[in-house]
Amino acid sequence: MDKRLEEYARLAVRMGANLQPGDTMLLRSPVDCAQFARLIVKEAYDAGAREVFVNWNDDAIGRMKYLYAADDVFDKFNEWEKIQYDTLTKGKFVLLTIYAEDPEALKGVDPDRIKRYQMVRQSALKDFYDKMMASEYSWNLVSVPVPAWAKKVFPEMSEEDAMEALWNAIYETLRIDGSGNAVARWEEHTKRLRDKCDKLNALKLKTLHYETELGTDFTVDLPEGAIWCGGADKNKQGTYFIANMPTEEVFTAPAKYSGNGHIVSSRPLCLNGTLIQGLKFTVENGKIVKAEADEGLDTLNKVLEVDEGSLYFGELALVDYDSPISNQKLVYYNTLFDENASCHIAFGAAYPDCLEGSDGLTSEELEARGLNDSFNHEDFMVGTAKTQITGITRDGQTVTIFKDGNFAL
Ligand code: ZN
Ligand code: ZN
Repeated sequence: MDKRLEEYARLAVRMGANLQPGDTMLLRSPVDCAQFARLIVKEAYDAGAREVFVNWNDDAIGRMKYLYAADDVFDKFNEWEKIQYDTLTKGKFVLLTIYAEDPEALKGVDPDRIKRYQMVRQSALKDFYDKMMASEYSWNLVSVPVPAWAKKVFPEMSEEDAMEALWNAIYETLRIDGSGNAVARWEEHTKRLRDKCDKLNALKLKTLHYETELGTDFTVDLPEGAIWCGGADKNKQGTYFIANMPTEEVFTAPAKYSGNGHIVSSRPLCLNGTLIQGLKFTVENGKIVKAEADEGLDTLNKVLEVDEGSLYFGELALVDYDSPISNQKLVYYNTLFDENASCHIAFGAAYPDCLEGSDGLTSEELEARGLNDSFNHEDFMVGTAKTQITGITRDGQTVTIFKDGNFAL
């Protein structure tokens, strides 16, 4: 057994999900990742889990459902699945998701079926996802290689070599290699992200202006009381957890109706098992009024049709161009890695934690304070080597936030 894999499982359970004695865990995993899933479950019980449930999924079987199942299947979400999610979050609960998929698993599938199913699923699980967005329970997202994904990242290699290369690349992003232990390295890393947040929060920024050599020219306001978050989050019981591993970002929420200009993506986006290449948005008063893409536009449009909030933004995240993942010079075709290699923006829901005094506010109250709500939350990458971000503070000072792709504070 690879020692690094054990260390990874430990990191995900102890530091990512930060499972506490007595917690019930739901693990969501592809069947191809069963070996890693077993290590996670073992580690969870060692950490004092009360019980661990595993929901398995499989790209090939998922694809068969979209191709061959009866059409009305995509208009309802099974009640028994909803009961599982809603029951689990009533007790002491943590969620751990292994996200690993063929980036083109659903290529050619009717995007309307995907959209309809996404709508009924997100609507049925709204309470579960609202609690997740508001950190009412700890959650953690990690990834391990699967063959179709590894071949997409390293197309010139044999499947075996591609898997090994992707494992090594992922271990590097997770700070698993090196002297000492990974947990200590992560403590240091999250502190660095925390320091960046402190600097940004001290500025009390009102407006950000993004410019890149690809054509992004976008101005957006932050709501009054906006907070920059990054590194570890704190759940409502006061336990720290790390939602994404790896993570290199600091992020906040935009004021829903404030964005104007053009945004051009800098990396491909994998959305519902389809690749979106060359994405461009034209934005007026916060709303995406025109979406373009060189590839995958049908899928992108279906996702944007899900609800009104899908056309507005929910996250502004800053990542240095000169960051460890970006410096690997790989395109991962997996948002968990690509978003941590590049400044990104999300369309869809905002995180309530990005706003002062948001505890216990209803979605209407959050909306009144400027936060967007949606069934969607999709990060897409905008950062480049020449990204320039200029801020204007609430007292009218101009500050350079990003210069030539990197944090300038
Ligand atoms: Zn983000
Ligand atoms: Zn995001």
